Parts: sequence; C-alpha cells; structure tokens
Amino acid sequence: MPRHYVIANWKMNLPPEGIDAYLHVVGSGEPAGTSFIVAPPFPYLRDVARGAGTVLDVAGQNCADHQSGPFTGEVSAQMLLDAGARYVILGHSERRSLYGETDALIARKLAVAHAAGLVPVLCIGEDLRTREMGQVARFLADQVRAASAADFEKASEVIIAYEPIWAIGTGRNASGLMVAETVAQIREALRRFWPPRFESETSILYGGSVTPENVRDLVAHGHIDGFLVGGASLDSGKFLAIYGSLSSP
Ligand code: PEP
Repeated sequence: MPRHYVIANWKMNLPPEGIDAYLHVVGSGEPAGTSFIVAPPFPYLRDVARGAGTVLDVAGQNCADHQSGPFTGEVSAQMLLDAGARYVILGHSERRSLYGETDALIARKLAVAHAAGLVPVLCIGEDLRTREMGQVARFLADQVRAASAADFEKASEVIIAYEPIWAIGTGRNASGLMVAETVAQIREALRRFWPPRFESETSILYGGSVTPENVRDLVAHGHIDGFLVGGASLDSGKFLAIYGSLSSP
C-alpha cells in the first residue's frame, strides 16, 4: 500500500509567522498514518530538522547530480542527509523551466539520491498545451521512463508528485476526476517502465494550487496519496487544514 504524505514546499520563502511558530502549529497535527514533510531553503534545513521533533520530516528542494567536487553553488544528497533531511524534491517544474533541468539530469540526481539513502520526491507534470492536445498520458509516460535511467536497485522508495504546470502557483487547480484519470495513467507508466514493486507501492501526490478550500474534491475523487503544497504551505493553519482533509475526508 502506498504511504500518505503532505509536503510543504516553501520554495525561496519563509513562513511569515517564523519557523518556530510554524513548526509548533504544524507539529500539533495528529499524523495518523500520514507523514508531514517540510522542504525549506537549504540554509534552514537544520533549524527545521531541530524543531521538527518526531512528528515532521524534512526534505531538500533539490540536490546536485554529483556526490562531491568542484560544483560551485551545488549541494549534495549526502549534505542534505547530514543536515537532517530524509527526502529530496527532484524535477520540480520550476527547476525544469527556469534552470533548464532535463529528464537526463533529473535521472542522474535520482541516482545520487538513491545512493545516499534519501527518498526522492519526483515531480512530473504537463503544460497546458500538452493537456489541450490530449497528449498527457504520453508526456507523463516519457517523464516516468526517463527517470528509470537511474538505478532503482538502491531505491527503497520513490514518491511521485503529479504537478500539472498550468496549476502551479496559478490559483487554477485540477479537478479530482481529472487527477484520478491522470494517476491511473501514471500507474500504467510505472508498470511499463519501473521495476514491478513500484507500480502498487509508489505514493502519487497531487500538487498545484492546493488550498483548504479545494482539497476535498481532490481527496474524494483524485485517487491520490497526499499533496505537495507550495503557496498555501507557508501558512501553518492552511497546511494543517489540508492535512486534516486527507486524514478525515
Ligand atoms: C509547488 O510548487 O510544488 C506547488 C504545488 O505550488 P502551489 O501549491 O503554490 O501551486
């Protein structure tokens, strides 16, 4: 059975209420089978890991595709682990579109994350044109297949975040039924391209303008195992409300 996750992607932001106050509120949630994960900017990983206690886990927002060496400005998977992270977000659409990350680069990052023992959160998702042209299944299958270039033997787990690009930070979210159809397409791609155990064991999260207001339809109809949340995750109350909808739909 896939595990349930709710992940806060702070991007290059901090919660206005401050890290300690935020963690205090979010840490008061009852996990009941769902893992809470916070992904802060790199310099705050240790602060979040220290304040996270036993209720929360920590993720990096990215890592290098090398283990160490002359790569100015990069952070390795092992360094994330040393700072207290257990997860790493890879292939976020902002990394793909703003920093030119390709499927091949992301597969190399997956490989170093697997080798270091970090659980990768692999982001995939189509742009609006691809959806309008009816090519979502093929597009996502290509992203899933490209990731299989990483050696999955060392991977204990991989989480997939389905994030349609047209829904990220736009206030326009996918409907539950649309997400359910897409999740089925992703599972079919996992069956075709990844080792057998991943088809049924992989958690598939939805991300894209999730708020406490629109979360119920996604939980009720989306066939998802949780959420990757950007904007709304900066507010501890909203993040907690999103989590609450997942545990009691
Ligand atoms: C994201 O950046 O992963 C994301 C889903 O952002 P938002 O919730 O703001 O759309």
